[in-house]
Amino acid sequence: MRFCIEILLFGLVVPEFGCGPSCGSGTVDHNGSCVASYDEIVCAAGTTLANGSCVASYDKVVCAAGTTLANGSCVASYDEIVCAPGTTLANGNCTPDFAAVCGAGTLESSGRCLPLYVLSCGPGTLQVENRCEPDSSANPNITCGTGAVLRDGVCVGLSTQAIAMPFASGASVLVTQSANGYDSHHGYEQYAVDFGVPLGTDIAAARGGRVLASRSDSTVGCATDTCVGDANYIVIDHGDGTFGQYWHLQQNGVKVALGDSVCRGQLIGKSGNTGFSTGPHLHFAIVDVWQQTLPLFFDEAKDNGGALYAGSSFTSANVTPASCGEAHAYSDCATDTFLTRGVLMDAGVPCAVATPGSTYIITGTSLSSLPFVQLARYRTSSSDWEFDCASVGAGGHYSVTVSWPTPAYASYGMMMLSAAEPEASAAGCKPPEGWWLSPKVYLR
Ligand SMILES: [Zn+2]
Repeated sequence: MRFCIEILLFGLVVPEFGCGPSCGSGTVDHNGSCVASYDEIVCAAGTTLANGSCVASYDKVVCAAGTTLANGSCVASYDEIVCAPGTTLANGNCTPDFAAVCGAGTLESSGRCLPLYVLSCGPGTLQVENRCEPDSSANPNITCGTGAVLRDGVCVGLSTQAIAMPFASGASVLVTQSANGYDSHHGYEQYAVDFGVPLGTDIAAARGGRVLASRSDSTVGCATDTCVGDANYIVIDHGDGTFGQYWHLQQNGVKVALGDSVCRGQLIGKSGNTGFSTGPHLHFAIVDVWQQTLPLFFDEAKDNGGALYAGSSFTSANVTPASCGEAHAYSDCATDTFLTRGVLMDAGVPCAVATPGSTYIITGTSLSSLPFVQLARYRTSSSDWEFDCASVGAGGHYSVTVSWPTPAYASYGMMMLSAAEPEASAAGCKPPEGWWLSPKVYLR
């Protein structure tokens, strides 16, 4: 006789409800019955029979979205987490791509490292937030308008180059073609100035810098564009992405060597009449990395708003400053050089001189939704373009490794960076538009 607990159910005594039997050897208790065979035990969903017991059946566990089964439990399934653009999965969490790795001179913005714009405000200006504004305390009687700065008591445009005339101090020189001159000072030569000077006139550097390029072996000059490639010249890199150009020098009229650091006012050459020239003169301009001439403000013409106009003579006051002697660096590209092509670069990309055979890793951020960044380089040896395509990764980051092999780029190569779309060709990608001018990099 076996006893068990009787349970009151709805006021009635229900004998032996819920009471299991005491099973003997070779049998098991299952839901209150002694059964002889394991086979007859029916386990609940999600469990399986093992050694006479129903245990969790891992295989039958169904985990919720975003989780996965591991050791019988549902845990976060990292592979299934989709992180937002600009973030990356790390240890199960979406973290901003660059939150912890933005380097010096950069700013984290929405998961991207963007370059900080480093301002260098000139004399008579003050940095206000991220702009150069006229310093009214320097001359409270003058208020320069937007986009202008006070220099030596005069308001000049922010992009204007404030310089001295490119001749020895005291020399009086006739201007034969000014900026916007009809003959040839238009298009990207808009702001060039021609000085009618006798052969062999001393030429002085209008700004200090480093000698980037020169030629002095030509004896050829004529008044048609058939001679356009025959000029002797000097190009001086000012180190800030601007370059002084001194054209039509006489044979052997270059008095500096490539790579020399020169001071403002230093004599650098002798004028001539080589190349496309209607008579002895110096063609002078300052260009940016795109070879676009920049407006000039000559110290000697302060009373004229800095302008030298044709038909008049002006006297050079170009004096070498006491600080002369500093070493000048070649220009790197500004980080926003290719901003209008949808691409920002990190600092350190040469925009004037690269070492032959050297390799550069160009990194930065694409601002475009296009999936590639294209680096294009013009090979002077074969007169064609070479293309490299870099995929745009998380946060817009791209990296393209570029070498400057010789002799393909024996003298110089043009360089262009653009946001680009896929292209079913050997090139692999192409920008949505072409270009007119591009920065020039000498191999040296
Ligand atoms: Zn000219």
